[in-house]
Amino acid sequence: MARVLVVGAGLSGLSVAMEASVRGHHVVVLEKRSSIGGRASSELRDGFPIAYGPHFLLKKGPLHQLVRKVSKVKPSVLPLRPHRIELLGHGMMQPRKPMMDAVLYRRASKSYDRDHPSIQASEDIASWGLGNEDRSRALLDSNLLALKEGWSGLVGRLAVTLDEVGIPIETGANVIEIEKHKVHLSDGRHVEADVVILACGYGQSKKLLPELPEIEFRTASTIDVALDAMPLGERHGILDTKHSMAIFDMKQIHPGIAPSGALLSAVHYGEGKGEDRLSQLCAFMDERAPGWKAHILHERQQKNVKIAPLAGRVEFGFARKSGILLTGAWVESEHILSDGAVAASRLAAEHISKMPLQQ
Ligand SMILES: Cc1cc2nc3c(=O)[nH]c(=O)nc-3n(C[C@H](O)[C@H](O)[C@H](O)COP(=O)(O)OP(=O)(O)OC[C@H]3O[C@@H](n4cnc5c(N)ncnc54)[C@H](O)[C@@H]3O)c2cc1C
Repeated sequence: MARVLVVGAGLSGLSVAMEASVRGHHVVVLEKRSSIGGRASSELRDGFPIAYGPHFLLKKGPLHQLVRKVSKVKPSVLPLRPHRIELLGHGMMQPRKPMMDAVLYRRASKSYDRDHPSIQASEDIASWGLGNEDRSRALLDSNLLALKEGWSGLVGRLAVTLDEVGIPIETGANVIEIEKHKVHLSDGRHVEADVVILACGYGQSKKLLPELPEIEFRTASTIDVALDAMPLGERHGILDTKHSMAIFDMKQIHPGIAPSGALLSAVHYGEGKGEDRLSQLCAFMDERAPGWKAHILHERQQKNVKIAPLAGRVEFGFARKSGILLTGAWVESEHILSDGAVAASRLAAEHISKMPLQQ
């Protein structure tokens, strides 16, 4: 049994703590913020779970499986439906009329025909420009899910399970330096461990471990707003694939998400400056969700967020000789986004028993 210290209590940190504990190790999690969840959190305001950009759970993906395994009550989920997503310039992603368009779509989605505009759009938008076929097929098959409880609900489920098995999560614990078998905190304390697992995102990991290779991330800007109006009507979303922008109404996808109105979550990914992306996204919303600004109850904007690419990721054992393992969506695995983080966590946890213990 190893003493394992996990740095960061986002989805990577919580999942690696769970996987390490299942394998019999003694685990402690340190989180620098006062709350857990990292980018996967959503904040409940007047009944609206305001998130950090649109988040969809891949049905039967690593995160969904983990959550189902730890939950006594299954999370309430409903899928994003292609026949309720408008594809700018083409009508609905899954046309139902005219008959010919409906038939062509059915054929194209069955054979995954990349010449069909809906398949192209799905491949682009389902993984925020990463071109992931699994998530694209999931969108076409109505297997990308919105959660009634928001992503904080998922985080809460993992945290409750960790609490039940006695894994402490210390918040307000900012790790500023690592050496072999020891981490130093900003309040002057240091903590010893056999294995340190960095689950604190790429930027923070690079600060703690400067020898990490550079990764070229995708960048995105997001706007999340709770509204007392429904500017998208009954549509689940509107996609502008030419400009890599999308607006979703999470409340339309899962009516149980919020008491009334709409919960718009919009994203614009790609090159350029964050402020330019944000103003283009605002203009897109002005055009496609008319009047949204006059109905805002709560709002959150992010200028620059990173999306881990498929290429150039780092292996979980990159710093194993220093007693350090890595996890996150930027760490090598077969999956992307939080599924990548959960999959990398499993790989790291499986490796703990091969790491040397502190003498
Ligand atoms: C626009 C956008 C859309 C996305 N959509 C989806 C989606 O649809 N589906 C999906 O599955 N995933 C999606 N993702 C990805 C998902 O949000 C992330 O993969 C996941 O939340 C990353 O979790 P993490 O734990 O690796 O990192 P983070 O959430 O960043 O957590 C890191 C934690 O470490 C803590 N920390 C940092 N430094 C220190 C330190 N020095 N000491 C102690 N603690 C520290 C931080 O406070 C934070 O809590 C999306 C991401 C973005 C940006």
